[in-house]
Amino acid sequence: MAETAQRRAAEAPALPAFADGGARRMLIGADWVEAASGRRFEARNPATGTLLATLPEGDAEDVDRAVAAARAALDGSWSKAKPDERQAALLRLADLVDTNYDELAWLDTLDMGGPISRTRLGRKRMVGLLRFYAGQATALTGETIENSVPGAVLTFTAREPVGVVGAIIPWNAPLGMSVLKVGPALATGCAIVLKPAEDASLSPLRFAELVLEAGVPPGVVNVVTGFGRTAGAAIAAHPGIDKVAFTGSHVTGQEIVRLSAANLKRLSLELGGKSANIVFADADLDAAVPGAAMAAFANSGQVCSAGTRLFVERSIYDDVVARVAAFGAALKVGDGADPQTQLGPLISARQLERVASYLDIGAAEGAHAVSGGARLTDGAYAKGFYVPPTVFSGVEDRMRIAQEEIFGPVLCVIPFDGEAEVIARANASMFGLGAGVWTRDVGRALRVARAMKAGSVWANCYQLMDPAVSFGGYRMSGYGRESGARHLDEYLSTKSVWINAG
Ligand code: NAD
Repeated sequence: MAETAQRRAAEAPALPAFADGGARRMLIGADWVEAASGRRFEARNPATGTLLATLPEGDAEDVDRAVAAARAALDGSWSKAKPDERQAALLRLADLVDTNYDELAWLDTLDMGGPISRTRLGRKRMVGLLRFYAGQATALTGETIENSVPGAVLTFTAREPVGVVGAIIPWNAPLGMSVLKVGPALATGCAIVLKPAEDASLSPLRFAELVLEAGVPPGVVNVVTGFGRTAGAAIAAHPGIDKVAFTGSHVTGQEIVRLSAANLKRLSLELGGKSANIVFADADLDAAVPGAAMAAFANSGQVCSAGTRLFVERSIYDDVVARVAAFGAALKVGDGADPQTQLGPLISARQLERVASYLDIGAAEGAHAVSGGARLTDGAYAKGFYVPPTVFSGVEDRMRIAQEEIFGPVLCVIPFDGEAEVIARANASMFGLGAGVWTRDVGRALRVARAMKAGSVWANCYQLMDPAVSFGGYRMSGYGRESGARHLDEYLSTKSVWINAG
């Protein structure tokens, strides 16, 4: 323990200023402001309960102010910014994120519990995404169209920014979600009102400081901190917002669809999942076992595309159950600030209750917890919200633990007998975000990949991501795509122009 404390003291930087327990403000226009109501709420470290900051509790009035600032920016100099100027701003922002990345990674570790061993690895992706969007800013083109109208008529399309974007994001990847919303907004010339999750607002606020430092005009990016039912709902319903980019649960997504109907604003919805991961008997198990375990346990299972339904061919079922359970049991669970930690706490007491309730539901449904199965409460664990990696065997498709998104480190392992059968069973879900297949047979990998009703399918790997590759859902995992060149379509309107030059 003394050795761990020494190592931590040596490796941990001083607490970032953004997490020193002080009062932070939110960004509206050029100003860092309090909520109009004057109310504040607390940000606490889910590993220790330590107070990290107090934050303005923004609500509808603050959203009004932020939308007005965004509209003014859009009508002002930002609308005249040339693509190469927007590109230059994004490149400066990418450099600033690179320079300040250690601080941003620490903020996410302290604020949402993700181990520093994991958050540190995000630098390449964050910087890469911003540089990718920078490249896209100067690659936006319309088309000219031959048509059948008599005379000298020229028709072309122009792609214009959709306008003011409202972005509502979850807590499981606060910096990454901020980049995925602000990046395309800047590339396309939109202005944005970003509402971070109430459980993880610190890195989005620090990121917004870097946006201003990068020279993006005030008002183009605004951040309103606060709760979903007030600030989030005000964004979803606001008549001055042209598009909502939402990432979160499917239940909230449905509410956003309802709220947004008043002005029929554009929507993109990145929602939850219950992704199937299929291991055939011919797979390389030395790769498949750790791959399948981390597909479910990474970030303590708080990943939208987590592979939480593990279908295993019956002849290797017992072996794989034992090996993923052993792999999970060997993972070091603890405070994410310890560089040795592999899995941190869950985000909140509410999330702990939710995940723990599914452990009870699984047991009551007749599944067997081969490893884990109960929350951790001893010693330092008592201060945080800890659930160990849990592997359930004896799971049947009909069980709630096999159908519902748990969003914790809980893996259901289910036997199957044949390819057609497992495809049908894997697809028997209301979600369709990710899917995995492990086999040495390339033909089978391709067949399964094409047959899965999911937005991303990984063969002999899981959760690989790249700025140039689209990500998004089928079915109740949402609609619209993020990252990849098509992402910018979500932030653009197409105008057709007819010129009669005759
Ligand atoms: P959540 O839906 O509870 O909250 C997400 C955001 O919506 C938060 O900012 C919250 O304040 C806001 N919100 C809540 N109620 C609202 C309302 N009535 N109106 C407007 N906004 C409201 O989700 P969460 O618990 O923060 O995040 C976990 C969920 O996010 C999981 O379902 C996960 O799968 C999903 N997720 C999806 C992706 C993806 O890319 N598909 C990525 C990460 C997380």
